[in-house]
Amino acid sequence: MENQQKKYLIAIDGPSAAGKSTIARIIAQKLEYLYIDSGAMYRAIALKVIQHNLSLEKKDAIIALASETRIDLRPADDGCYVFLNGIDVSKKIRSPEISQVASQISVIPEVRKILVHAQQSLGRNGGVIMEGRDIGSKVFPDADLKIFLDASERTRAQRRFTENQKKNSSLSLVKTLHEIRQRDQRDRTREASPLIQTEDAIYLDSSGKNILQVVSEIIDRINCLK
Ligand code: C5P
Repeated sequence: MENQQKKYLIAIDGPSAAGKSTIARIIAQKLEYLYIDSGAMYRAIALKVIQHNLSLEKKDAIIALASETRIDLRPADDGCYVFLNGIDVSKKIRSPEISQVASQISVIPEVRKILVHAQQSLGRNGGVIMEGRDIGSKVFPDADLKIFLDASERTRAQRRFTENQKKNSSLSLVKTLHEIRQRDQRDRTREASPLIQTEDAIYLDSSGKNILQVVSEIIDRINCLK
């Protein structure tokens, strides 16, 4: 273990495909921290909305669905397994359709309240690295370290495109760019906990850097915490 000191609470926020998941997961492995992908929780609710054929207009029904859904995150070598009412949905929640629906249901304040509460319980004891859009601003405003991880739009689209291709997705680079733009715009402009960089967050641009460079920059910051 590289960090034998106190177990901290680390928040990583940023737009989609900035590298948050990959980087948070590697840091968690190196420091033996618990990695929490908060976006997976919004994705799990989105999957349930689709499975129930619910219109996105039916906010009350979506809120009811969110409140009766049990989401479990369990550590895996390549991220975390996501269980929806006991069923493994880790792969299913990664489609472009789910990305869009997740961002649409995440504007509903009551849905956020339910998931934020669950995220706060998971991070309560520290030794956690949690990534998302509102971790430093809303879920853990007192996090020991807040990182705002960014990358140029082009870099992010290219990364997501390459990732999707490995999953046999037929989404073109142009459409991937459009998908990312649309989602980021919604995430940044929604009323409830929009994606923002808090004043106390450290801004890191991962464009042109490899994963391990960014990982080591963040670990250096963690090692400087007292
Ligand atoms: O991070 P990921 O792309 O998996 O998140 C999917 C969607 O969930 C985001 O586009 C965003 O709308 C929503 N989300 C959120 N707050 C978080 C994490 C994700 O609103 N903390």
